[in-house]
Amino acid sequence: MAALHELERAYAKARRDPAFQRELRELLTQYAGRPTPLYYAKRLSQALGGRRIYLKREDLLHTGAHKINNTLGQGLLARRMGKHRIIAETGAGQHGVATATVAALLGFECEVFMGEEDMQRQALNVVRMRLLGARVTPVTGGTKTLKDATSEAIRNWVTTVRTTHYCIGSVVGPHPYPMLVRDFQSVIGREARQQILKAEHRLPDVLLACVGGGSNAIGLFHAFRDDRRVRLIGVEAGGTSLTPGHHAATLVKGRPGVLHGAKSLLLQDRVGQVLATESISAGLDYPGVGPEHAYYQLTKRAEYVAVDDTRALRAAQQLARLEGILPALEPSHALAYLARLAPRLRRHAVVVLGLSGRGDKDVQTMAQRLMSTSNGTPARHI
Ligand SMILES: *Cc1c(COP(=O)(O)O)cnc(C)c1O
Repeated sequence: MAALHELERAYAKARRDPAFQRELRELLTQYAGRPTPLYYAKRLSQALGGRRIYLKREDLLHTGAHKINNTLGQGLLARRMGKHRIIAETGAGQHGVATATVAALLGFECEVFMGEEDMQRQALNVVRMRLLGARVTPVTGGTKTLKDATSEAIRNWVTTVRTTHYCIGSVVGPHPYPMLVRDFQSVIGREARQQILKAEHRLPDVLLACVGGGSNAIGLFHAFRDDRRVRLIGVEAGGTSLTPGHHAATLVKGRPGVLHGAKSLLLQDRVGQVLATESISAGLDYPGVGPEHAYYQLTKRAEYVAVDDTRALRAAQQLARLEGILPALEPSHALAYLARLAPRLRRHAVVVLGLSGRGDKDVQTMAQRLMSTSNGTPARHI
């Protein structure tokens, strides 16, 4: 609690400090590549019967996804707090890479906790982090994945807090993390709101984003939360089926519970044991979700749905072929839901979809799933 109180106080000051905000803005612009375009996807719009589809291009940011918005913010905060070491948990390795990147940029020592199983599945990101000067520590407990890496990072932080900042990668964990990560990501929606008003002279009818822990979705939604006529839709990973253990659709299938210091919805069994999750996209593969999403769902401000692996893959391929943009598999879940939703929207409806990251990291997964069938011959649709 002492560590969290220290962080809460430091952030409350930094948030009001124009010098902090200016430096963050400068890094977001000069280093990360903001503002990202709001791109009108003409051929996709045509394919969806004339609904006007805009993509918020977080995939064009440095390191390939929205995660750098958060790690830059937390990096500057850590420096203000006088820390010289930064630690993080990572599942797929994307947040680990974004943290290692900022640690290099700001001159921090960096250690990333990663489940042993994930280190094997995401070997390339392990190399990336090491090239950036980070130490990657395997976590061998539990299921050897993200949930266990997070527990290990929290444990390490408790014993090193005088020198160390713990950089959480999504809007999860104990307060103040869900709030400060949301604040750092809400630049996505602030830009998108201005950009769509400029392009369409009105607010969008629908916002769509994928939800793992929920940071890119909250980042997009937040600036629109008081625009009651804008529908907010979060899309979760339906995995291979919506039976326990085979998906990561926390808001669709979860019950209230406590994980990693936050009360939210949680995938758990009858006695409260956290369930295993499954998804083709490692970034969505987490049994919890940010508490603010649980609140939006409870108050009906946002809707949450699930899309399975196969549809996400198909949607990734569709965007690649129609627009020349190869998306990450996470936002491909939102793209897949859009295809299903579009016929139910009025003809000239305006949609903004958060394209949270690019697909380079998923090429191998896509190749395995699309290019070979069980007998080794190429699948028909590639
Ligand atoms: C990590 C990641 C996500 C999931 O994290 P959120 O906190 O839910 O945004 C989504 N998309 C991409 C590209 C990611 O790397």
